[in-house]
Amino acid sequence: MNQEFDAISRLFQQRTPFKHPTTQVGNGDDASTHAIPDGFELVVSTDTAVEAVHWPQDMPLDIAGGRAINAALSDLAAMGATPAWLWLAIMAKDTASLSNMSDGIVQACLMHKVELAGGDTVRSNSNSINVTVGGLLPKGQAMLRTHAQVGDDVWLLGNTGLAAAGLKQWLQGEKNGCFVPHFQHIKPLYNQGITLRELGIRCCIDISDGLLQDAGHIAKGSTLGIYIDLAHIQNLACYQQLLPHFTKEACLKKILSGGEDYALLCTAPASKRQALQSIDAQHIGTCIKGEGVHLIHEGEIVDYNIKGYDHFA
Ligand code: ADP
Ligand code: MG
Repeated sequence: MNQEFDAISRLFQQRTPFKHPTTQVGNGDDASTHAIPDGFELVVSTDTAVEAVHWPQDMPLDIAGGRAINAALSDLAAMGATPAWLWLAIMAKDTASLSNMSDGIVQACLMHKVELAGGDTVRSNSNSINVTVGGLLPKGQAMLRTHAQVGDDVWLLGNTGLAAAGLKQWLQGEKNGCFVPHFQHIKPLYNQGITLRELGIRCCIDISDGLLQDAGHIAKGSTLGIYIDLAHIQNLACYQQLLPHFTKEACLKKILSGGEDYALLCTAPASKRQALQSIDAQHIGTCIKGEGVHLIHEGEIVDYNIKGYDHFA
């Protein structure tokens, strides 16, 4: 048998039997087809993870595979969509790399009950994984970066800074460091995203490049400014978790500009406060007239020039 097709079948197709009820033509043909139920819209996003860019070269490839899927699903979480399918373009140096990446990918597909509806498999000089995810959303209910309003509270769901701390430990040789699992095992918060949407929240983003930078996308998209309150940041569980291990400045830097945690940041009017507190969202700031994202301490703007991750910087 052709080795490429044998590998695709053995490593991916046979191990992902789950089919989404909307699927008409599943994996195995030139393309997959899906029927969108009445009253729903299709949500699609794509994400690429490259060895030595998105994960360290010495990290196990099954972990890299799982991370790639989870990171892609986080974009559906931010929209408030329910994940349904994914399509995988995988580039592998050799068959061992392909097999190891497939282990993490298949495990993530099964865990999240997302259908692997198709893909492409090629040999390349470096390992990389491109994941296109698709999900469903009741029509007109997407949570968008452009939907924040002046006066809205800014809320955080999940942690930030812990993945950056984990990556630092890994790179320093602390392979069993206490924060390493936060970098390696991303939890896409799609259940929380769905809950936010059902609560009537209409503005949300996932934090992949750092809290301040991603808050900046909301500020720009919604033509307003955002104040993030230092006192609220210092109250976060993740700040308290980091504090025994790093200086105060390093903790803040990780929380405000560390990437790869895939927490959700949303904005909402004061009428949603009780509901958001009841799902453990943390109130960290306010949308104001103006522009940009500013850190404030006791009402004054703090000069705090931290940038998030920039691939081309
Ligand atoms: P084509 O030549 O028609 O583009 P391929 O030969 O690349 O298709 O792939 C054959 C079938 O296997 C297609 O249905 C494709 O979607 C699927 N496939 C290829 N690679 C993967 C993968 N890594 N995971 C899941 N499905 C895959
Ligand atoms: Mg074809």
